[in-house]
Amino acid sequence: MQKNSVSPVQTQPSVGGVSNFLKTVLEWNQTRKSIMVLGLLLTIYFLYFLFFNYYLLTAPTPYFNYPLVGELRPILGGLLVWILLLMSCFYGLRDHPWVNRVSPVITVTFYALSLIFLGYLVGMLTFPVGLVVAGAPLFGFILFWRWLVVANLAMALCMIMGLSWLSVINVIPYGPIFTDAYWSDPAARAMQLKCNLFFSVPHLIMIIGMCDMMLDLWRKRERKIRQLSRTDELTGLLNRRAINEGLQRLIPPQGKRRLSVLLMDLDFFKKINDTHGHLIGDDALRLTSACLQSQLREQDMIGRYGGEEFLVVLPRTLHEDAVQAAERCRKAICEIVLQNDQGERVPLTASFGVHQVRADDSLESILHQVDRCLYEAKAAGRNCVRATEPPGTPAAVD
Ligand code: GH3
Ligand code: MG
Ligand code: MG
Repeated sequence: MQKNSVSPVQTQPSVGGVSNFLKTVLEWNQTRKSIMVLGLLLTIYFLYFLFFNYYLLTAPTPYFNYPLVGELRPILGGLLVWILLLMSCFYGLRDHPWVNRVSPVITVTFYALSLIFLGYLVGMLTFPVGLVVAGAPLFGFILFWRWLVVANLAMALCMIMGLSWLSVINVIPYGPIFTDAYWSDPAARAMQLKCNLFFSVPHLIMIIGMCDMMLDLWRKRERKIRQLSRTDELTGLLNRRAINEGLQRLIPPQGKRRLSVLLMDLDFFKKINDTHGHLIGDDALRLTSACLQSQLREQDMIGRYGGEEFLVVLPRTLHEDAVQAAERCRKAICEIVLQNDQGERVPLTASFGVHQVRADDSLESILHQVDRCLYEAKAAGRNCVRATEPPGTPAAVD
């Protein structure tokens, strides 16, 4: 038989692949995050590049300013080359501390300026521009320094307002890659819809995808923190706070439910620690916890109440059944095979206090009653069960 082989109950929830990916991304340094953002930008600009090429190569429509679209092709091509160059530079120097400081500044500024430029070309007061202005900062706050995102957002807003104003006073044209017919002709609405969708969907996917992953990770962390705050680290059982909460929840308001409580304390545990060491003491606690779990029902709540004290809440259990459960646990604990470093068996016993909850009981009175019974069990020589009187009033019974 493997020596003292019980390990604490696994309490950590498994984390899914997408969250794992985001967790990894969040732990990346700023350079790696910059490379990822540039990669996403590369994909988006490549799609735009294809879009403009498609309209240059197919039958002309009256809605595009073809000379400008023609000029835009090499500009977009140049942007793609710039992004590739930046990505390879960052990748080559990814572990240099100064690149880690500079790369996000270059990336976020490049992102903002290039999108303002493209936003100006398609019209500042359009859906894609609104989407990027509202969504990109969210995305940025998750990945980069706050001051950097705020600074770029402020710059972008100033430029958007400035450019919009210049087009209002007719210094520059509004949405110059489109013709006047695009903006005014009702027949152009299908094309407007197509363009708006095409320019915004890639950003929408990127922003919503990132925010969703972030929220998912946050929810999982919340769950994990909550679970950790309710779990005893050594045994994996509920801790004192959680078992108290569980008991409080089950205390019947008018004594309508059957509910019993056990308080168990290992006998002469200090001596086990003193004689065999704390590690063997810890093994004893883990084995005791596993033993209680094996003897009790799924719906029973077991908590580590203090050092070597365990509180068990037995829903739908009358006095007699609770005493029987305590006896069963007591006997099972006597049979636990705990060995010290020399391979000698260390005997374990425990004493129990039992109480069936009454109509007028509060959390404090329940704890007081089981503690009193436990004290009696200790005084009676230990390794035994002592219980309060079974409640005689029918109000305490279902
Ligand atoms: P009694 O039969 O009267 O209950 O005597 P006892 O020795 O069990 O009780 P006492 O309260 O004197 O000692 C409890 C011991 O439990 C003292 C403390 O060092 C030990 N203890 C508390 N928490 C832990 C723990 O997490 N690990 C280990 N190994 N020991 C612990
Ligand atoms: Mg003890
Ligand atoms: Mg104790």
